[in-house]
Amino acid sequence: MINFALHQKIIAMSLESNYQNVLSQIPENVKLVAVSKTHPSEKIKAIYDLGQRAFGENKVQELMEKQPVLPNDIEWHLIGHLQTNKVKYIANFISMIESVDSEKLLKEIDKEALKNNRKINVLLEVKIAKEETKFGLTVDEAKDIFNKYLAGNYPNIEIKGLMGMASFVEDETQIRQEFGVLKKLFDELSQLKPLETLSMGMSGDFPLAIECGSNSVRIGSAIFGERKYEMH
Ligand SMILES: *Cc1c(COP(=O)(O)O)cnc(C)c1O
Repeated sequence: MINFALHQKIIAMSLESNYQNVLSQIPENVKLVAVSKTHPSEKIKAIYDLGQRAFGENKVQELMEKQPVLPNDIEWHLIGHLQTNKVKYIANFISMIESVDSEKLLKEIDKEALKNNRKINVLLEVKIAKEETKFGLTVDEAKDIFNKYLAGNYPNIEIKGLMGMASFVEDETQIRQEFGVLKKLFDELSQLKPLETLSMGMSGDFPLAIECGSNSVRIGSAIFGERKYEMH
């Protein structure tokens, strides 16, 4: 049997090698958002101590528990489906809401941003996967919302870019095609107003996503290990 301290040390060492291994595959112009959902604050702090500052969570409740006990300079990204009635809990500290999947949600974020006297950065989440279960706007809905934003609706929001998830399939051609749809939309909207962030790529497909033009990847299990339970 190994003792507790040794066990902790082994976890810290494997986190560090996972993290360095992921970093070594990400070019300098691509941002890494470390997806810490389901993992305890101690593991987040270990990655923080290696220099990582951007972390992604998908549940408001979990984020609200972790945020107060972790360093203040962490840049928190909300990456999961967000209910409008929960925006108020994160509006004062969230760095980026990557998962804006309806205009109703955007309106609520705008309202809460104003209340908190700040601008809130968001990405429009576009449904590019063929799977039925995924949240996200259609390409046309995203264009429509972006045009309203350009016309001056949502003055308390900054739309920084787009986020999307490809299908969980082996077929590389299909994944490339799906990422390609988002890249094309990103370039199109950037003609109207330059966008900064194209968020695509997870543990299983981030090298491919980067090849397809991603400049922000959301990586969980390749850094933190497998999640014991899935939260959707
Ligand atoms: C969980 C999650 C990720 C990270 O997934 P991994 O496969 O563990 O890297 C990325 N993006 C979103 C939206 C997620 O929910």
